[in-house]
Amino acid sequence: MNENIIKRGELLAQTVIKGLKSRNMNGYYAASKEEALELALSMIPEGSSVTMGGGMSVHEIGLVKALKEGNYNFIDRDAYDDKHAAMLAAYDADVFLSSSNAITQDGILVNIDGNANRVSAIAQGPRKVIMIVGLNKVCDDWDGAMKRARNVAAPINTQRFGLNTPCTKTGTCMDCKSPDTICCQFLITRFSRHAGRIHVILVNDNLGF
Ligand code: SF4
Repeated sequence: MNENIIKRGELLAQTVIKGLKSRNMNGYYAASKEEALELALSMIPEGSSVTMGGGMSVHEIGLVKALKEGNYNFIDRDAYDDKHAAMLAAYDADVFLSSSNAITQDGILVNIDGNANRVSAIAQGPRKVIMIVGLNKVCDDWDGAMKRARNVAAPINTQRFGLNTPCTKTGTCMDCKSPDTICCQFLITRFSRHAGRIHVILVNDNLGF
């Protein structure tokens, strides 16, 4: 990557980290996926129960693989026949992993969800939330973050899961009320009441969508 692009990303990340701090959340800069993996693992003590609610970015840095291979109790919902039980187990986990559909330059997190297991666990439950967020998810403001979540992240997810929604066909949000819609719940995290609970690792790379 061009060094000016790298520098711009680092500066942007520092702006977001400042915004997160003002909202009682911790932000960190990782120059690469490898650095992000090392940083995330340093925040998860061995023996911890860890779970997640989707999040390609978490896979892309190799964190899921490392946790499954390491000395952790990784609660893999894909391994549960009873998905509801897996979702309930997530609320009592030591660590919840996720990405964010978007984040504003001043540190507001925007996430949308169909089942709400992910957004509800971000909001409360797990003792620590670690988010892996590529700088491609940073938006100028709240309006931009909502637009990104609905016009970029959601249509890619509906395509990924083969859902019958208008955005699967058009590639952009049509504000549907389809039975298959994944835009059921919107979580705007503008402040964390519990200091030290939400940690956002900003990676100077394109991750997820
Ligand atoms: S509201 Fe419907 S059309 Fe819009 S992004 Fe969500 S699922 Fe797609």
